[in-house]
Amino acid sequence: MELDVDGVAERVSTGALPSWDDVEHLVQDAFERNRGVTAGTVADYIPALAVADPALFGVSVAEVNGAVHSAGDVGHAFSIQSISKAFVYALVCEELGHELALERVGVNNTGLAFNSVMAIELNDGHPMNPMVNAGALATTALVPGATADERWAFIQDGLSRFAGRRLGLDTGVYESETATNQRNQAIARLLESYGRITADPVEVVDVYTRQCSLLVTARDLAVMGATLADGGVNPVTGERVVSQHVCRDTLAVMAASGLYEQSGEWLFEIGIPGKSGVAGGLVAIAPGKVGIGTFSPPLDAAGNSVRGQRATAFLSRSLGLNVFASGVHGRPDAQLHDTSTEGQER
Ligand code: GLN
Repeated sequence: MELDVDGVAERVSTGALPSWDDVEHLVQDAFERNRGVTAGTVADYIPALAVADPALFGVSVAEVNGAVHSAGDVGHAFSIQSISKAFVYALVCEELGHELALERVGVNNTGLAFNSVMAIELNDGHPMNPMVNAGALATTALVPGATADERWAFIQDGLSRFAGRRLGLDTGVYESETATNQRNQAIARLLESYGRITADPVEVVDVYTRQCSLLVTARDLAVMGATLADGGVNPVTGERVVSQHVCRDTLAVMAASGLYEQSGEWLFEIGIPGKSGVAGGLVAIAPGKVGIGTFSPPLDAAGNSVRGQRATAFLSRSLGLNVFASGVHGRPDAQLHDTSTEGQER
């Protein structure tokens, strides 16, 4: 794309959240309204995930001023899985820059499942975007380091800085996925055959499997998300993790592809960038406002947490987070009105 924007000063778009008390109540509401929902099934293609308790449910919202609101099982640790893709991408973008990340990994949706091999074939071996397995493997292959251990240390340190605490590995999940991830090995080999990754594919899959096995809580996800909402500074620790430009680019990719083939529906209903993982985690980010972290293991057919999506949809509406929703200039009432009365209002 030729956009001629070099050197243009970029302004940020932010808005106000409701008061601390209101956010606190709405987070409780998001939990209470959805705790009885039983739809969805726990992922079982990674054997260690199949034993997750479907009743677990937590909702956490971290504001960019560092306030954290929580309801339910927000301290329960689970493997981050695909949500790691967004944060590793941010760390790699920080190292490589906008143009190289665009060229090497891509930013367009595949419209296909997260572990699709066909998506690679249909696109001449291009991994397409960092939120699906092919693009995530291509991203992990770009992580700096001379050895797999160095690359792993870079990822573990970086994701820990996003969370504001040292994140550990779930060795049970790591070993279980290592024994059953032939499909990811095949994807890495296919990318190698197309010349899309030059690192050793076996090592790349191993580091990727470790990054997916990092243990986080819903609260961690909220803080990690809030770091992306806060121009790259962790609002709890005050540490800068990535640059503002990298946050902007990462959120754009999450908006386009974070929920795989359901990304359009997600954006239509919820209107902020998000990323899901098969252990039941979900993170959503309202730039300049909050990070939302939820955890509930039962998933829909695309692999996205059912209760997580519902709680996030409620919070997006009630906290006024949808980036596509606007008020009318000069009218103090900032609420969206029902479309059935739209004609009468104007
Ligand atoms: N580790 C998982 C995999 O690669 C992550 C998938 C996911 O969370 N959608 O299959």
